[in-house]
Amino acid sequence: MFRRRKPDGEVDSREPEAPSEPEPAAEAPTPPRFDRPLFAGFDDEDPEAARADVEERLEHGLERTRGGFMSRLRGYLGTEGEGPSWDDVEETLIAGDVGAALAMDVVDAARRRRDPGGAEAAVRAELASLLVPREAGWEPRPAVAGGPAVVLIVGVNGTGKTTTIGKLAARYTAEGRTVLLAAADTFRAAAIDQLLIWAERAGVQVVSHAPGADPGAVVYDALDAAVARGADIVIADTAGRLHTKSNLMDELAKIRRVVDKRLPGAQPETLFVLDATTGQNGLQQAKAFHEAAGLTGVVLTKLDSTAKGGIVFAIEHDLGVPVRFVGVGEQAGDLLPFDPETFVAALFA
Ligand code: GDP
Repeated sequence: MFRRRKPDGEVDSREPEAPSEPEPAAEAPTPPRFDRPLFAGFDDEDPEAARADVEERLEHGLERTRGGFMSRLRGYLGTEGEGPSWDDVEETLIAGDVGAALAMDVVDAARRRRDPGGAEAAVRAELASLLVPREAGWEPRPAVAGGPAVVLIVGVNGTGKTTTIGKLAARYTAEGRTVLLAAADTFRAAAIDQLLIWAERAGVQVVSHAPGADPGAVVYDALDAAVARGADIVIADTAGRLHTKSNLMDELAKIRRVVDKRLPGAQPETLFVLDATTGQNGLQQAKAFHEAAGLTGVVLTKLDSTAKGGIVFAIEHDLGVPVRFVGVGEQAGDLLPFDPETFVAALFA
């Protein structure tokens, strides 16, 4: 059943704040419901402790992967004497979602390396080299002076988009930034409801219209509201499924045009939410979204629920797009900033 479209701009009665009514920034903040220590990686007071915290949480989040394919991999790599069975190593990488072609390349390169540290060091170095370089301490920044940073969250339904938005909202609020959410997945009424629940928890404001409304109009109003209220960051939910793939991609393109129109030069971050448990299928979805929408980053969710965390290497290598965060649970604090070195160290820990 398709929902009847309502006229553009119609505002849902559940909307907590009308988007067009500017408020002085001083009155806007609602006290955050989450404490900073809940979120890993804050580094302004004690960078070492913050880093150790991320490492520990990541190791915990990767428990299944470490007990699963990584433990088999290390078993093969650790073989003394005649050296590892490289066929077994390759098969284990494939079973860990690294992907067949890439697994073959990693094994070939690792063998050629003749690493003095042995086979494990060689494979570890080759895997690490698949991860794309990135700026340390990345965060979404405003590209237009006085405007908010804009983040579009895209991906297939059920992958954890809403949860990720909630986690990001809570995280940035705890950091002291003013966050505003745009409920632009108007295709599913439940998506708007879920977003409102997360917004309430995180103490952030949401701009939403009625189910079926024009997503572009929601984003436009959210940007208006963000500028009027001096918000630091706008995070927009988007539809994960429409009648056809081309509808979905057209809609994303339209949202991008709306951002450009309202905030020329805003350069939104387009983060693809990928469910780690969907492995290589998820990677195919990511490729389709990347072609259509030009992804700037990936959030890899449910890493705690898979024993095959090797998908991280496939995504970064195949897409050339950095993973920005990994989801390791359902709570607000279960979103960790992704750092390649820390990730590889946690895998091999
Ligand atoms: P959406 O349809 O893409 O918006 O997906 P939701 O945000 O509603 O998430 C779908 C399910 O995945 C929910 O039950 C979430 O609690 C769960 N989920 C999301 N992220 C994670 C994660 O990192 N780890 C785990 N274990 N579950 C997650």
